[in-house]
Amino acid sequence: MKNVSTYENLSYDDVLLVPQYSDIRSRSEVSTETDLGNGLILRLPIIASPMDTISEAAMAVSLGNAGGAAIIHRYNGIENQSRMINIATEVGNKGINIGAAVGISGDFIERAQSLIDSGATFLCVDVAHGHHILMKEAIASIRKAVGDGVHIMAGNIATLEGINDLADWGADSIRCNIGGGSICSTRVQTGHGVPGLQTIIDCAKTDRNVTIIADGGIRNSGDMVKAFACGADAVMCGSLLAGTDETPGKVTEDANGSRWKTYRGMASKEAQVSWRGNYSSYEGVSARVPYRGSVVKIIEDLERGIRSGFSYSGARNLTEFQSVAEIVKQTPAGMGESRTHIIGRKW
Ligand code: IMP
Repeated sequence: MKNVSTYENLSYDDVLLVPQYSDIRSRSEVSTETDLGNGLILRLPIIASPMDTISEAAMAVSLGNAGGAAIIHRYNGIENQSRMINIATEVGNKGINIGAAVGISGDFIERAQSLIDSGATFLCVDVAHGHHILMKEAIASIRKAVGDGVHIMAGNIATLEGINDLADWGADSIRCNIGGGSICSTRVQTGHGVPGLQTIIDCAKTDRNVTIIADGGIRNSGDMVKAFACGADAVMCGSLLAGTDETPGKVTEDANGSRWKTYRGMASKEAQVSWRGNYSSYEGVSARVPYRGSVVKIIEDLERGIRSGFSYSGARNLTEFQSVAEIVKQTPAGMGESRTHIIGRKW
């Protein structure tokens, strides 16, 4: 029989951070800056996913102005994707970071070149299973086309071997986590994946010069802070930013007057049919999410949560936080206590 690892693999709810002495008098003393390597520095370590219901020009402008970055999705013609990058730079948004996604086959070299020419400040080689020979070949070709000075993000991977290989192949930052996204059904369809926080813990053991993007399954600023404590240099979010004015798509109203937007996995049947006209295997779902107004207030709340999180550990920046953070495991009873628990209480 095959050896089965009985090593415990942790998810976000399995841990808490131990509060520590702090001499931070105000959250404004805390810096949220992160250096993702090869010229990509963000004032806010939040990146919007390259998805067609999350990241187009409006998200790039709002999140970019807040200090984070959106990655314009690749499910579009080269001209359209490049135009979205242009519109961000043309209306006076110079100085913001804006990412652009490319695939690993077809027109990806021409696309990468056009996106960089249009003002993208970094590229994201965006595939579901990034620990793959096609990824190795794609990074090599993109590097050759755009040169060493362009920051290349790549992924997704779920293991230390994965992050090491992608770093050796030439990526500067790596999206870590397979199957943890809110709209993802990869683990159900394929049986593959590693719990999200464990992926960060494992990948943080890398000795390569590479940074870690915790991607998928992040539900609140507490999850972000836990990811940073375990070694993430930035977080990537879809659902947390979904349903806002800045996401593509229309607001619909139901019979009760509630308003909704669509948020869907890029490997869902619905997304595949939109972009390819048909679907093959699918590993995501399409969901209706409440309409939530502007993303600006949501980003402000997340930033406040991160600052507060660092200050609970007495840390003034990400590097300090990662060196002092103490992580404990909690039981299911602890998880219950950790959530707001007055609603539904039987008095
Ligand atoms: P969320 O923040 O939990 O909603 O997860 C967003 C992340 O899910 C993205 O950044 C991708 O890594 C991942 N993702 C996007 N579309 C799909 C899909 O169709 N299947 C599996 N994962 C997906």
